[in-house]
Amino acid sequence: MGGKKPEGMVLINEQGLRADGRRADQLRNIKIEAGVLKQADGSCYLEWGGNKVLAAVYGPRECHPRHDQDPTKARVRVRYNMAAFSVSDRTRPGPDRRSQEISKISSEALDHVVLAHLYPKNAIDVFIEIIEAEAGTRCAGVTAAAVALADAGIPMRGMVTSVAAGKVDGKVCLDLSREEDNFGETDFPVAYVNNTKEIVLLQQDGHFSPDEVSEALEMTQRAADEIYELQKAALLRKYQQMAGAEDVEGDAGHEPQIEPEPQIEPEPQIEPEPQPEPQSEPVHDTGVEN
Ligand code: ADP
Repeated sequence: MGGKKPEGMVLINEQGLRADGRRADQLRNIKIEAGVLKQADGSCYLEWGGNKVLAAVYGPRECHPRHDQDPTKARVRVRYNMAAFSVSDRTRPGPDRRSQEISKISSEALDHVVLAHLYPKNAIDVFIEIIEAEAGTRCAGVTAAAVALADAGIPMRGMVTSVAAGKVDGKVCLDLSREEDNFGETDFPVAYVNNTKEIVLLQQDGHFSPDEVSEALEMTQRAADEIYELQKAALLRKYQQMAGAEDVEGDAGHEPQIEPEPQIEPEPQIEPEPQPEPQSEPVHDTGVEN
């Protein structure tokens, strides 16, 4: 954020489209899958633009070390980690200050919805692994972690969905790409609880006017509603697959009905060029008699 933009680099063109063809209020592609890991109590794999994220949940289970236990509720502990191979310059393995900060804000966001009082002295451990990073990994991580918590059957007040807005070439835009994150002016990640619209995470790097804050909130809230549908569909699909597998066990040969994965696909921005009418092929005599 705030890096010096190389001369001649255009982030938003005259038609108001961004370098990757998106409109200002358009998300990157998102794909969510629940229940991808056998060993974890709950899990999620999420692709969001160039981000690839795995989230795994273990617990509720007895909290260790014991001095970490809270006699009134479970501790929701999040560890956000960027794999050494997730970015083009290898990152140093282990928690740095950035990943500690993201772990803390993610855990605060998720702790708000988990009914932690049901599990005193327990821990609910959430691991967010960034396998490939483009930009917006904290939002992708929190969104995946919320699906993994639901997949683990952890009771929650609502689903958490996170998405960022920002400012690029003076314009408020949704869901910044890497270039926009590097050379834009503002990054504004938010996380909402879907049913109450409460904000459980809000950060701002760079400047916004009050009107721009309102625009960014409106944009992210609409996008969060869209992403929430994908989170829900991923969970539903997992249970449909389980039900389908059960049916197959009981009734060999019966095909489980699995809904196709919904995704957010960018709308094509460029009109296809008119193609000349195809010339009809001359009919060749094959020499084969019928
Ligand atoms: P977020 O991923 O939530 O947007 P940042 O704004 O801190 O978080 O990072 C923006 C992007 O910068 C990341 O998504 C990643 O692609 C890249 N990045 C972050 N940390 C590193 C690092 N240590 N080495 C290389 N690239 C990094």
